[in-house]
Amino acid sequence: KRLTVAIDGPAGAGKSTVARRVAEELGLLYVDTGAMYRAITWKALQSEIDLSDEQVVAAIAREAEIVLDPPEVLVDGVRVTEAIRSPEVTDHVSMVAGMAEVRRVLVEKQRQMAKDGGVVMDGRDIGTHVMPDADVKVFLTASIEERVRRRHLEMIRRGYASDPDRLYQEIKRRDEMDENRSHSPLKPAADAVMLDTTGRSIDEVVSMILDLCRT
Ligand code: C5P
Repeated sequence: KRLTVAIDGPAGAGKSTVARRVAEELGLLYVDTGAMYRAITWKALQSEIDLSDEQVVAAIAREAEIVLDPPEVLVDGVRVTEAIRSPEVTDHVSMVAGMAEVRRVLVEKQRQMAKDGGVVMDGRDIGTHVMPDADVKVFLTASIEERVRRRHLEMIRRGYASDPDRLYQEIKRRDEMDENRSHSPLKPAADAVMLDTTGRSIDEVVSMILDLCRT
């Protein structure tokens, strides 16, 4: 079976940038599981349903056809690559991701994508729950200040107004919800390599992970 790499960590730790690069270098498929939770959240917001109604959101998750075609993300054939990064989706995604049935549906899709290996998957519960047998598990962290700074630059690059104080609150709130939910909360797997990316360049972090993949 081909290589499987799990990259987990909190918001703004650099997971998606690093995971995409590692996948490119190794010629593996990159799966951004956060984009899947965002896609369901986008569809639920679009449908103007009560977002706290778990049954209704779960039905949306079951029916949604999510296509990850890096860097593009499609839901039911609609291109949502940028739309799923909007502040509105970001504000609601952790609530949707806290729903047991939504997680069940998406985790099943994720395992399906990983079944033949050859994949770098990033998220919150990949090493602990989605791919507990992954060959390489990395848990990326960074100081909250650094994570706020990165998100701030990212939001500006995407053309949004960005207020660091608001971002700080958003990231803290999302971390808290992700760490404290009852179903596969955000935490490092017992056998994950902890990697603090504060003050490290993307290249440096990528090459550290590539080293782990080659040993
Ligand atoms: O990685 P990203 O910030 O895009 O993820 C958005 C949200 O999706 C996270 O804050 C978390 O609530 C949820 N998520 C999750 N499990 C994953 C990936 C993302 O709960 N494997």
